[in-house]
Amino acid sequence: MNPVEKKALAAIERKSGKLKALSRKLYNNPEVMFQEFKACRWLSQELKALGYKVKPGGRELPTSFRAELNKAASKPTIAILAEYDALRGIGHGCAHNLIAAVAVGAACGLAAVKKELPGNVLVIGCPAEEGGGGKIQLLKAGAFNGVDAALMVHPSSDRTMLDHGFIACRGLDITFIGKAAHASGAPEKGRNALNALLETFNALNALRQHLPQDVRMHWVVMEGGTASNIVPERARGEFTIRSENNAYMPTLLKKVKECARGAAMMTGCRVKFRVNSYMYSSMRPNRPLAELVRDCFKQVGVKAGFWDGKGGRGSSDIGNVSQQVPALHPSISLRAPASVTGHSRELADWTQTPRAEAAMVKAAQMLALAGIRLLTDDKLMRGVKRAYKQGS
Ligand SMILES: [Zn+2]
Ligand SMILES: [Zn+2]
Repeated sequence: MNPVEKKALAAIERKSGKLKALSRKLYNNPEVMFQEFKACRWLSQELKALGYKVKPGGRELPTSFRAELNKAASKPTIAILAEYDALRGIGHGCAHNLIAAVAVGAACGLAAVKKELPGNVLVIGCPAEEGGGGKIQLLKAGAFNGVDAALMVHPSSDRTMLDHGFIACRGLDITFIGKAAHASGAPEKGRNALNALLETFNALNALRQHLPQDVRMHWVVMEGGTASNIVPERARGEFTIRSENNAYMPTLLKKVKECARGAAMMTGCRVKFRVNSYMYSSMRPNRPLAELVRDCFKQVGVKAGFWDGKGGRGSSDIGNVSQQVPALHPSISLRAPASVTGHSRELADWTQTPRAEAAMVKAAQMLALAGIRLLTDDKLMRGVKRAYKQGS
């Protein structure tokens, strides 16, 4: 490790108490998508104190921000992505409180060696990852224009991995409108919207057998009637559909809609669709970035492997970022017991343990190292760009 790298890591070590405090504050104040006003303010304050110029998100995306270390030296430019939205009803069960603190930690390390860095560092505040597609809006607004590589780290209960094989994902609501009637006195006069929703579930479960292996479909009932003695006149489900193949998503959506139309016909209900205007893309891989991150993890004493193709796969709007600029979404293990899984209250609580906080500091150090190398090694950056073009 060279003196510049050592200096950056030492700065993060010194900052670790503050990073822990920030993660705790976010844990105690979970804010769901597009409501992350406190998180956005606290992160902006921390970054300003580190010497970054912080521009708040506009009216369109008020809980985003863009922090810039060195505007004068614009090339190359790397972006560290901060997420800080919580899960509906669960709090920080996806540990985005740690992602935010990791981003501030990495920003601290890079700020400490600002004079030795030829390029520019951005920290982009990305709201609404858990649905909402904050990064997709940021992409549209040009927030990633001029970025040469984008990096972040996501905590994981158990695995440190360089990539996750994220798959494409789209959300939709399906609403059925029937007719209310006395459920016992005159059921023949009613049309049951809840039955239409249930028949949709059944149809999709039958369809599932005949879809490509990588497809995922899951749902919850959002509205299902008001009282058991009234035929439900309105029922609504929230659905998520996923595939590793971006190009297959329109076909999948069409099949889902056909199932719902069939259910509407069976039950004599009307059906309405509200499909999210945005889609989370699958992740475009980048081998040189992954190898860089593996080496940097190793430097801070963390062993990281490539995704082994086993287990379930999620989705993230960093997939969309990866289609526009070279990007990587590694994870770091929080070394939690097997009973602690993602998107749970247990994982939110685990973020407050010494093991999780130690991982947070190491992740920040890894990101700072990766940032330094990307900014100072032309050959590496050229390789990253070449891999992006080839999509491998
Ligand atoms: Zn999540
Ligand atoms: Zn997450």
